[in-house]
Amino acid sequence: PPALVRRAEQQDTKAIQALDSAHYIHPFTDHGDLATRGARVMTHADNIYVWDSEGKKVLDGMSGLWCVNAGYGRKELADAAYQQMMTLPFYNSFFQTTNVPAVQLAAKLAALAPKVGDRSFNHVFFSSSGSESNDTNVRMARRYWDLMGQPQRKVIISRHNAYHGSTMAGASLGGMSGMHAQGDLPIPNITHIEQPHHWENARAGETPAEFGVRAARWLEEKILAIGPDKVAAFIGEPVQGAGGVIIPPETYWPEIQRIVDKYGILLIADEVICAFGRLGHWFAYEKFGMKPDLVTFAKGVTSGYIPLGGVMVGNRVAEVLIEKGGEFNHGYTYSGHPVACAVALANLELMEREGLVDRVKNDTGPYLAQRFAELKDHPLVGEAETCGFVAGLVLVKDKVKRTMFDPDLAVGMICRGHCFRNGLIMRAVGDRMIIAPPLVMTRAQIDEMMGLIRLCLDATLDDLRSQGLL
Ligand code: PMP
Repeated sequence: PPALVRRAEQQDTKAIQALDSAHYIHPFTDHGDLATRGARVMTHADNIYVWDSEGKKVLDGMSGLWCVNAGYGRKELADAAYQQMMTLPFYNSFFQTTNVPAVQLAAKLAALAPKVGDRSFNHVFFSSSGSESNDTNVRMARRYWDLMGQPQRKVIISRHNAYHGSTMAGASLGGMSGMHAQGDLPIPNITHIEQPHHWENARAGETPAEFGVRAARWLEEKILAIGPDKVAAFIGEPVQGAGGVIIPPETYWPEIQRIVDKYGILLIADEVICAFGRLGHWFAYEKFGMKPDLVTFAKGVTSGYIPLGGVMVGNRVAEVLIEKGGEFNHGYTYSGHPVACAVALANLELMEREGLVDRVKNDTGPYLAQRFAELKDHPLVGEAETCGFVAGLVLVKDKVKRTMFDPDLAVGMICRGHCFRNGLIMRAVGDRMIIAPPLVMTRAQIDEMMGLIRLCLDATLDDLRSQGLL
């Protein structure tokens, strides 16, 4: 390991954990629990592997938090940041100023975003995260309708079990009841419909195609209940990530598109996870027959090396906002941060040079799909599906009767514990186990990961049997 890492490893893990507990408030963490266990201290990483302060090597099946698309240890990205910091570490984009990396990145993103139907994406607004970008979306969508002379269109419809961030608007748009329960959310004029989750929500015998159309029509029912002239936008992740990798049936998004078109409502695709090759496309809307007006991005745009997010603004909104809008009273200090934009440019160039998006679409993605589907023969696995480089499986008590475990048993957490101990990072969302590996993962590494997943499923099964729970 490099010198810096050696220094971290020489520190006593226990001492770092004690300092961590004393001073550091973590996101989404029960600190009572953390204090008794001590945080795992990550010290360095390379390619698809991460090491902790005890020297243990772990295969990162989650790309950090769905973001390290280009893998760890990419010197090009560090060089881009260094060069830009030495040239112009910061300047803002307020007050009629700009900077070269931000301009180049906006143009690059416009070139990468495919035109669909009458929608083109020639404009970009920058932020530093997915949450901020979704706050921007709420303000932009409402501003659009103000400028269109329909200020009463304020309601934004989202879905239960969606994840759109952790700010007031982001958490309100999201459909996580645990988040709504804290801080008086959702904020006004945000409402939710049910998610298109075939496994959980379909009727007996209903095909995915039939269910997809029925699930999309929940949007139409909601629009009619609210009054079509009051609805500003519908927002959705093409594939729900944090909710547990919920892959909608193929019929879902085309029917949603028909409905938003019918009522003239804006469509927001939250592609914070799905863009930049994760699903085998630069932007996932192309894959699903969506014609969004606004597209949220973050994470993979820099492969997580530095914070950057933003919104791709389609021509329908851009023309109104730019041509008749005057000043839009909205922006962040770090909108178009030159270092973040320089790293993003280097990251996109690297991904192009190595053909990562194409590889996921035509080579490693289909291979992962084939290998992951083999898990369906495991006694604990009720369903196992992939979409590009995201995948999810559900742990079930009885796969024939489709019965789930008692949620209090936290079987997903038991499985996750086995993954950690065996050198694999896999995330548990209830009893769904999910992965989103770095896009650089090779076929041989997919085999390695699948071996670990099977080992951990077997260990979970043994555990449940020995405790008499099966
Ligand atoms: N939208 C989606 C779809 C996400 O997955 C996330 C983060 N997991 C966010 C928004 C929020 O992004 P951030 O954490 O960068 O604010």
